[in-house]
Parts: sequence; C-alpha cells; structure tokens
Amino acid sequence: MDKKEKKQSKQRFGLSQKIFLSLILGIVAGILIHYFMPAGEFRDEILVEGIFYTIGQLFIRLMQMLVVPLVFFSIAEGCRNLGDTETLGKVGSRIVIFYLFTTALAIIVALALASIINPGQGMNINVGENSFEVEGSGDISLSETILNFIPTNPIGALASGEMIQIIVFSVLVGLLIAYMEDRMTTLGNIVTEMNDLMMGMTMWVMRLAPIGVFFLIARTFATLGYDVILSMISYMLTVLGGLLVQLLLVYMVLLASFTRVNPINFLKKFFPVMTFAFSTASSSATVPVNIKTLEEMGVDKKISSFTIPLGATINMDGTAIMQGVAVVFIANVYGIDLTMTDFMTVILTATIASVGTAGIPSVGLITLSMVLQSVGLPVEGIAMIMGIDRILDMARSAVNISGDATGTIIVANSLKAFDVEKYIRRVEKA
Ligand code: ASP
Repeated sequence: MDKKEKKQSKQRFGLSQKIFLSLILGIVAGILIHYFMPAGEFRDEILVEGIFYTIGQLFIRLMQMLVVPLVFFSIAEGCRNLGDTETLGKVGSRIVIFYLFTTALAIIVALALASIINPGQGMNINVGENSFEVEGSGDISLSETILNFIPTNPIGALASGEMIQIIVFSVLVGLLIAYMEDRMTTLGNIVTEMNDLMMGMTMWVMRLAPIGVFFLIARTFATLGYDVILSMISYMLTVLGGLLVQLLLVYMVLLASFTRVNPINFLKKFFPVMTFAFSTASSSATVPVNIKTLEEMGVDKKISSFTIPLGATINMDGTAIMQGVAVVFIANVYGIDLTMTDFMTVILTATIASVGTAGIPSVGLITLSMVLQSVGLPVEGIAMIMGIDRILDMARSAVNISGDATGTIIVANSLKAFDVEKYIRRVEKA
C-alpha cells in the first residue's frame, strides 16, 4: 500500500465511524421525535416530511446520479484492459466463466437464505408514503427480455438508465477500444480518466453520507419507532451467514474438487490477505497482497497478475450476497411480494451489478439501486441499511477477494500454471 492509499484507507475508516455515529444519532433523534414530540404540523409536516425528507432525498439523488456513468466507464475500462492482454484467450474465458458462475451462485445462496430467515418481515412501510416512483417489473415475454439486451438507441439507454443495455454497449465500447488500439489512444485515455473521475466523485458523495444517513434514519425512526432495529440486526446476520456459506461451502468445495489444495491449510495461509481486504474494505487495494500471496503458494504470476485485478473489478460475490439479501429485506420492509420472475431478474441484475461494482468501499450500495429498480422496489430503502453497511462492506470485500483467489488457483491449475510441489512445500508443510 503506498502513502496515498494508506491515507485514503485511514480517511475511509474515519468516515465509517462518522457514518456509524450518525446512524446512532439518527436513531436516537428519530425515537425521541416519535415518542416525545407532540404530533402536529411542525413535527410531521415541517420537520419529518419537510426538512428530514428533503435533505435525505438530496443525498439519495446524489448517489443515483453516479450509477449510470460509474457502471458505464468502469465496465468499458475493465473490458479495455481485458482486450489488450495477451492472455485474453484461454485464461480470460475460463476466469470470466468462473467469476460469473460463482456470482450467480452467491445470489442464489443469498436469496435462499433471505427467504428462509425473512429479515424485515412485518414492518410494512407504505410505499405510497414515500412519493417515490415505483416502476412495476411487469410481465414481459422471454423473447422480449432477450431482445431488450440490445439497445436500439444507446444514448436513449444511457439517458433512461436501462442497465442491461448500458452494459452491453459499454462492453462493446471497451473491447473495440482495445482492438483498435492504435487509432484509439485519445478515447482510451478518456475512458480511463472518466473512470477515475467517477471513482473520485463516488468518494466525494460518500463523504456526505454521515449527513444523509442522519436525516434518512431519523425520518424512518420518527415515523416508525424502534421496531426497525430488530429487522436491521436480522438483515445483518443474514448477510454474514450468506458470506460464510459462500466462503466455506462454495469456494472451499470448488477448490477441493478441482485441485489438490487442502481448504483448511489454504485458508490459514490466505487469512492475512482476507484481513487486509477486511480492514480496507477494498478489493482493489488488496490486489498486490493477493498476487504476492498466491505467488508464494505456487501460482504463476502471469496468470494472477491478469485474473486478480480483473476479479477486483468484476468479481464481487460478497457484494452480490449483500444485494440479494437487501432485495428481500427491502421488499419485506415495504410489504411488497416478490414473484419468481422477480427472483430471476435479481439473479441477473445483481450479477451485472457486481460486475459494475468497483473494488473500493461502499460502491456495492450504489449499484444496489439498479437491482432494486429492476424489480420495482423503492431505492430509498437503501437508507435503512446504509448506516450498518461499513462492517458488512469489510466482510464482503474479504469474500470478494477470496473468490478471485479461488478462481485464479483453479484456472492456473487447469492450465498447468500452478506449481503443486511449491504449494505443498510452502503451505501444506509449512
Ligand atoms: N467494497 C467492496 C470491494 O471493494 C465493493 C462493495 O461491495 O462496495 O470489494
């Protein structure tokens, strides 16, 4: 970690403490207002639905503002790098299949677990109260769904936030910039710089999170009282449960089935990398440590130096788990029933959202809004989980990078780029 990153992670930690503090203050303020302030025009109209609502919404809109450009440029940039790597062929296709497959599996785990535990059930916030436009997901045919992947007008897709169409277009833009490299230097630089700009803007908006969280949470508690806390705890435990299942069942079983690696010894050796991701809440910041540790374990650096940064950009299984649970939680909180089609849509959009999530703190929350919108859930539900998100962000980042490492070992092993002797010497017999 260089100086700048160290400074950033320190700042982020300060920020997360501030967010947590404003969550607590928001809860206290909301409860005091709910139980001790006399109902009437001042409390209900001016304070709660006036000041609290407006400031909270300003913050939500700032977050929504980022989604389209952030997803577009982060995917175009990711594909651009994929395209100009020599190893693109075999390694690229295998690792991308692994990444997408495990992400879809992660969401299924999350949806299944959340449907059993049902966090947030019984709270029933009336959606009408929130004056938020709720688009129904509607029933559209399979052929229409497939046709809708391709935008007839990409600018229109960007303008109206059609996520899947935006992704298809950005993948093509990124790949072609890489392919036509010699004629595309300016455009390539623009994509890189726009990507950096959007990351910077995300950091900036997140700095306002303590203010946003205070007003959003205070409004929720002022309206609903303290029944909300229990639901938030059940949400948190469901996400943590999903993360554990993904780590211990999905990854370790895959590792044991495809390689000669002993999962327990692997986890012991890999633990410091997870700790690093946990404390920085950033897959990107963990890339160097991850590559180094895998190299010590016998993975050829040619493979890992391609698959690990790619994974830190597009493979976010922990994030997908949080998003799957959040969908069920928010649907329960607002008393909205999810259909089977909705669940399928969530599997698809959360996979895409995790591809579009950058490996830095809190971005998973922003791309969550796209998943919520895809099934017509109110985006402002995010407010409820935002205050406790930092700790989940840390945990899911640790799972995100474990997925990258697992995939890398399996792919390296399949291409004979994994030195098993070295692994046994360094890990099994260490
Ligand atoms: N912080 C996560 C990561 O870097 C991304 C997210 O879910 O916000 O892996």
